[in-house]
Amino acid sequence: HLHTKEDIIRIVREEDIEFIRLQFTDIFGQLKNVAITASQIEKAVNNQCMFDGSSIDGFVRIDESDQYLYPDLRTFRVFPWRPGHGKVARLICDVYNTDGTPFVGDPRDVLKRAIQKARDMGFDTFNVGPEAEFFLFQTDDEGKPTTKTNDEAGYFDLGPLDHGESTRREICMALEQMDFEIEASHHECAQGQHEIDFKYAEALHAADNIMTFKLAVKTLAQKNGLHATFMPKPIFGVAGSGMHTNMSLFRDGKNVFYDPNDERGLSREAYSFIAGLLRHVPGMAAITNPLVNSYKRLVPGYEAPCYLAWSASNRSALIRIPASRGQATRVELRSPDPSCNPYLAFAVCLTAGLDGIEKGLVPPAEITQNIYAMDPATREAHGIASLPGSLEEAIRLMEGDRLVLDTLGEHVANNYIEGKKKEWDEYRTRVSSWEREKYIINY
Ligand code: GLN
Ligand code: MG
Ligand code: MG
Repeated sequence: HLHTKEDIIRIVREEDIEFIRLQFTDIFGQLKNVAITASQIEKAVNNQCMFDGSSIDGFVRIDESDQYLYPDLRTFRVFPWRPGHGKVARLICDVYNTDGTPFVGDPRDVLKRAIQKARDMGFDTFNVGPEAEFFLFQTDDEGKPTTKTNDEAGYFDLGPLDHGESTRREICMALEQMDFEIEASHHECAQGQHEIDFKYAEALHAADNIMTFKLAVKTLAQKNGLHATFMPKPIFGVAGSGMHTNMSLFRDGKNVFYDPNDERGLSREAYSFIAGLLRHVPGMAAITNPLVNSYKRLVPGYEAPCYLAWSASNRSALIRIPASRGQATRVELRSPDPSCNPYLAFAVCLTAGLDGIEKGLVPPAEITQNIYAMDPATREAHGIASLPGSLEEAIRLMEGDRLVLDTLGEHVANNYIEGKKKEWDEYRTRVSSWEREKYIINY
């Protein structure tokens, strides 16, 4: 999709588009937008739309609050779920300062800087294929989400088409109208849990796609009287929702991770990329797994990773190498969950892998056994460490990982850590129903 400014202005007029949403993402991964009417489209494509950055969490202070939105013209799309007349379109924007420089606190800018680092090392493309899982829940009489699913299906099940499934179908069709190439869509392990996989893309585009995907899923669920959530572990005792992240690096149109002469078909760069990820996953966790609730997913028994290990196939491992080789050779990181800010998550994944390549790191031996079934002594003998067990631990590890802090930049890192510490403190001081049930009688 290569639109010029003139194309966009013309389409808005000809297609009876009434509103255009100028979108961007705050550092905590929340999609924000300013709606303008069609009469303002010329101003918007000429980068003249301003907003108050001090009202956005973690952006700027009140005394320096004016910021500009520079639309990325390639992201112009019409929302298919809005009415045929008085249509609504969107443009994803970069955030700029009044002096015409990019705003360092814009997550899109963080990812662009990481991509530039890869280019400086000779890698022209970083491709990302995310697999975001989610739950569809019923709503109550007031429209509030419940945790009821009214769905008996499990992984890949083909039941009688239930409400959840027909909603998923609608989501896929809407996404295709927005130029997504849907590769697969299926029921996941848990009741009410779904996955829709779309084609990988260059990282910035892939992160934009995740933001669009979440909006489409939530909007269409609501239209069908359901509530969609990307919360990582909504229900105790059943699988949580992950966002497996498939990654590959290209140089001159060739997949750098592929080497036909290696026993596993992987290049030295691929091994080093894996080693870099393993080194930084603990320090990245506060980004890839940003919520208190994220750490309730990272427990044994639900196909979510808990230990720092890699494997060519084993699904209990944190890093897996899917079977395809050649141009499709890729590294799958299984820790991220869909509540993360995809721009920041892909940025830290990339620079972690690049760090491995730059330093020529070599990963430890591949683990082929089921790690969940190992006792702590066996894990220790294999040198397998654990992922952080809580948001608090993850924040501490992030503060100690120079590479992660540098990738985010001081502005984002400071604001992010401050926000997450507050979130942890809010949680830490609450008394939960589990505690009352456990203690109120016995003590
Ligand atoms: N839901 C699992 C997770 O939390 C993944 C299951 C799967 O895709 N095989 O990561
Ligand atoms: Mg899945
Ligand atoms: Mg997967």
